[in-house]
Amino acid sequence: MTTGPDIVIIGSGIGGGTMAAALAASGRRILILERGERLVDCPEARDDAAIFGRGHFRPKEEWVTPEGEAFNPGNYYYVGGNSKLYGAVLIRYRAEDFRPIRHLGGTTPGWPIAYDDLEPWYQRAEELYGVRGDAGQDPTEPRHSGSYPFAPVPDEPAIAAVRARLKAAGVTPSALPLGVDIEAWLKRAATPWDAFPDTTGAKRDGETVGVATALEHPNVTLETGALVTRLIEGPDGRIAAVEYAKEGATRRVSAGTVVLSAGAVNSAVLLLRSRVANRSDQVGRNFMNHNSSAVLAVHPFRRNDAVYQKTFLVNDFYLTGGKDGTPLGNIQLLGKISGRILAAAGGVPRPAANWLAAHAVDLYAMSEDLPDPASRVTLQGERIVFDWRRSNWEAHEALVAKLKAVLRRAGFPLALSRPFDRRTPSHQCGTARMGTDPATSVVDVFCRAHDHPNLFVVDASFLPTSAAVNPALTIAAQALRTADHIMRKVLAA
Ligand SMILES: Cc1cc2nc3c(=O)[nH]c(=O)nc-3n(C[C@H](O)[C@H](O)[C@H](O)COP(=O)(O)OP(=O)(O)OC[C@H]3O[C@@H](n4cnc5c(N)ncnc54)[C@H](O)[C@@H]3O)c2cc1C
Repeated sequence: MTTGPDIVIIGSGIGGGTMAAALAASGRRILILERGERLVDCPEARDDAAIFGRGHFRPKEEWVTPEGEAFNPGNYYYVGGNSKLYGAVLIRYRAEDFRPIRHLGGTTPGWPIAYDDLEPWYQRAEELYGVRGDAGQDPTEPRHSGSYPFAPVPDEPAIAAVRARLKAAGVTPSALPLGVDIEAWLKRAATPWDAFPDTTGAKRDGETVGVATALEHPNVTLETGALVTRLIEGPDGRIAAVEYAKEGATRRVSAGTVVLSAGAVNSAVLLLRSRVANRSDQVGRNFMNHNSSAVLAVHPFRRNDAVYQKTFLVNDFYLTGGKDGTPLGNIQLLGKISGRILAAAGGVPRPAANWLAAHAVDLYAMSEDLPDPASRVTLQGERIVFDWRRSNWEAHEALVAKLKAVLRRAGFPLALSRPFDRRTPSHQCGTARMGTDPATSVVDVFCRAHDHPNLFVVDASFLPTSAAVNPALTIAAQALRTADHIMRKVLAA
């Protein structure tokens, strides 16, 4: 049993890393327990066949479907968590996303806080993560109290031409807000960054920003290879100890404040296994993951020589565009797809994949997945059962159809699409949702567990809705807001 830290943070992804960065200034002793190790540079780091074909960076782990089919999930365990491989899109939810919205597949519940409550923290998160963007381009952009710290990542010439074609076709391509230092990224090798591991610090992620900022303070310690297995409740309802496995031994540590940031699937698993924080029976439920498809815009006589490609988004169908004015979702560029990546996805022979990749502009269509208590993560013994029930699929199909129509108007004779499958839980969220009613939610508006006064769950689990934009900046903003609350109301008490 180790005693000592005032605060234990479980997990070092965007949630845990940002919490550590913000709480470090309190001077309290902080211990970060991270099951993974630091990603180190290796030849595979920029080898798309190793990453997408052989799954070199994936965990040696299996989850099962309710039917008992085992699969290897694309869920990453490193210092920095999933953000080590992320596309570094750091975008705000739209102001409308915080209110109930009627979708083709149902109505979202809205958030217990408003956009204006989170806005100052979005601003700080953008500053902390050094986001490159321009808030003046996208008509759906919510109010910003400041400006982005850096100008947008520039379009490559081939992508500037696509942007002009799309504009002429009647939509509004706008700068994608990004946390990547493009010159530093390209110095290592001329590859895209989306879904590639960051081994050189060019991405602004949970490790390079969150953990690195925290470790500048002597009161913060990071323990890697520390797999947390249980939270132990004391007789007073507080979390009395955190149990973890390291180097074959079981260890325990206690702290006045426990922050759980193991990611939406693993935080739920840990709460379920520990039988804590679940008076509402909502832990593990409301699992959401976005409905998304890759859409390839192909022109047989035009080659796309872009290296990274991922610099703009289109939100013309974000707030409306569906039947009766319902929202459809976000469109953004994917990292440039190669023939090897396409062949690894299956179904396309290598020569055809090479030709297609050379002539395609690759886009990502993303629609909101709505909370559903039946969509859930559970435990069967030690096995993680992943029962994601997709919702609002008709909105996604409509978005893909609209995008294809725009692409045809923009001069692409062929547009091919394929949905991302359920083994890619990249945008996982919702499994410990935030709310004011302890009967229907797991944490309060500052991510404190309704059932345990010293337990905070700060990662994608708290998100009450998935919206239709990438989640990381919203997780970071709420982490900063929660850390501020802890420093003012919990540590100062
Ligand atoms: C390929 C890919 C591309 C993406 N692109 C984008 C993007 O462009 N923009 C965006 O906003 N989002 C993107 N995402 C999603 C984004 O990365 C996640 O939403 C975000 O990183 C989630 O942060 P988190 O803190 O909730 O969890 P995680 O990143 O999952 O962090 C959890 C941490 O806890 C650790 N952990 C887990 N269990 C335990 C345990 N039992 N004990 C100790 N430690 C534990 C993990 O190792 C990990 O470090 C992408 C994800 C992927 C996989």
